[in-house]
Amino acid sequence: MRLVILGPQGAGKGTQAEYLADKYGIPHIATGDMFRWAIRQGDELGRAVKDYVEAGRLVPDELTIRVVSERLDADDAASGWILDGFPRNLAQAEGLERLMRSKGRELDRALVIDVPEDVSLRRTLGRRVCENCGATYHEDRPPRNDWVCDRCGGRVVARSDDSEATVRERLRTYHEQTEPLKDYYRERGRLLEVDGTASPEEVFERIVAGL
Ligand code: AMP
Repeated sequence: MRLVILGPQGAGKGTQAEYLADKYGIPHIATGDMFRWAIRQGDELGRAVKDYVEAGRLVPDELTIRVVSERLDADDAASGWILDGFPRNLAQAEGLERLMRSKGRELDRALVIDVPEDVSLRRTLGRRVCENCGATYHEDRPPRNDWVCDRCGGRVVARSDDSEATVRERLRTYHEQTEPLKDYYRERGRLLEVDGTASPEEVFERIVAGL
């Protein structure tokens, strides 16, 4: 299974991608997690993307496509993957299509999880993430022990780009650049749209039924 997940901030892309990765035994590849990890490492990629990520602006396409291409070549991605947060615009969608063609593969589905703006803001502003493994929590749904990740024991913190101003900027970018990809994938017969306002378990059931 080769799947991309799109949706506004706080739609639950990361949560659903984790469920799907478990169910199908394929890696969950989140460009945002890869960039945040690189920034924490302070490596070359991290230095190149830091200013964009912190301002809530898109990292340049060429660099993003290169990072994704290298990740998709890893052994664990040979039999499928779930891309979360990529593509974010038409150039990236076309880049992915070229990449797939060059590897003789096809994308199975583009899953869009939709939530209205107020839900998006509420979920994102209360979001907490494990800085080690990227697992997500919410201030109303914390880990069992005092902001220590249930899964890996890492520190659970607010993302520095989850401030209200930055989230609004990211939502604007989503509507302008990412949402038009619905038409792109609809025309290719790949689109699966799911309402993301229900509980994570219910949303997951709808996705699996749709797939
Ligand atoms: P996310 O975790 O998906 O919300 O991504 C966090 C930040 O990483 C975004 O606000 C962008 O700065 C950057 N980013 C993640 N994915 C992409 C992408 N596909 N293209 C460009 N920038 C991205």
